[in-house]
Amino acid sequence: MENKKLCLIQRPIGSVQQNDFAIQQEPIPQIDDGEVLIRNQFISLDPAMRGWMSELKSYVPPVPLGQVMRAYTGGVVVESKNPNFKRGEFVTGLGGVQTHFVSSGKRLLVVDTTLAPLEKYVGGLGMPGRTAYFGLLEIAKPQLGETLVVSAAAGAVGSVVGQIGKIYGCRVVGIAGGEEKCRHVVENLGFDACIDYKSPAFYRSLKGLCPNGIDIYFDNVGGFILDAVLSRMNKFGRIPVCGMISLYNAKEKPQGPQNIVSVLVNRIRMQGFIVFDYADKYAQASNQLGQWYTDGKLRLYEDIRDGGIEVFPAVFGALFSGKKRGKLLLRV
Ligand code: NDP
Repeated sequence: MENKKLCLIQRPIGSVQQNDFAIQQEPIPQIDDGEVLIRNQFISLDPAMRGWMSELKSYVPPVPLGQVMRAYTGGVVVESKNPNFKRGEFVTGLGGVQTHFVSSGKRLLVVDTTLAPLEKYVGGLGMPGRTAYFGLLEIAKPQLGETLVVSAAAGAVGSVVGQIGKIYGCRVVGIAGGEEKCRHVVENLGFDACIDYKSPAFYRSLKGLCPNGIDIYFDNVGGFILDAVLSRMNKFGRIPVCGMISLYNAKEKPQGPQNIVSVLVNRIRMQGFIVFDYADKYAQASNQLGQWYTDGKLRLYEDIRDGGIEVFPAVFGALFSGKKRGKLLLRV
């Protein structure tokens, strides 16, 4: 049996290209005591991976050149010499863009596919869902009746943020690219409204749909959207800084937000976070997200692409073009 893997062979400049990667095949090694062999079924495509490909200092070391591309995955145990994992169990972990991987069991999580299919655990019940949960509840601490604005609202993290906001009694306004996505955000995800940031009416709509100002802005994108929202923030507003996808492919240093003075005059708390910061509370988030999902309070959408690891670079581009809906996954 062979493992097929996608290795990073050069650091992308701007958007990811096919020739930044190479496919390699290798025999699957025998596993030792304590180890588990997993066959990946889904590879998670996350905007953060663009940062992991870069040499810039970040919260995790860059993927070394020549090595398999780091990725969250969902798969099935095919062989185990670790008492905590049984053959046939479904697991999520950091399995990389490859068909198989050997794990020591560290950071490997068994999931119950009788409650939800595996793809949900790689999506909204997994890392992106936990990101939404901690960013909103630990940093923003939403209160009944507050106005919550979420960018990348149709995406993996944003879609969960808005739905948790509704559960907590907020007025929730999404921001997304295009009329169709905005309709999805309102009709299927239950947000109160959604604004198309690609429309010339963006600034006017932001003002009109947030008549009492904005108490919480969950920022997934940075750039001009952050700037626009800053100008509408209320006193003592909170901004969990989750991501800045509009900057990830930038070839030049971005301009800073022009309305940053709002942070001062409105006494805004703006805090970046990485989901790992809450690793000791993952079980709490997973249980609560699972409960909301089974109660029908949390709707999760995945956009699953076929074609194997070969199509990874092309599919990854959909995160930046927005040509996808919900959590982007590659079936392998
Ligand atoms: P999504 O599923 O939301 O996909 C990315 C979306 O971003 C696209 O669909 C697109 O939506 C939007 N987008 C892309 N480029 C731009 C742009 N230039 N301006 C505005 N919107 C843009 O991804 P995730 O939910 O996985 O991630 C969302 C954010 O959360 C990212 O910034 C990511 O890095 C961050 N993140 C942070 C974590 C943490 O621990 N801090 C953990 C996980 C994610 P549209 O079509 O609407 O334009």
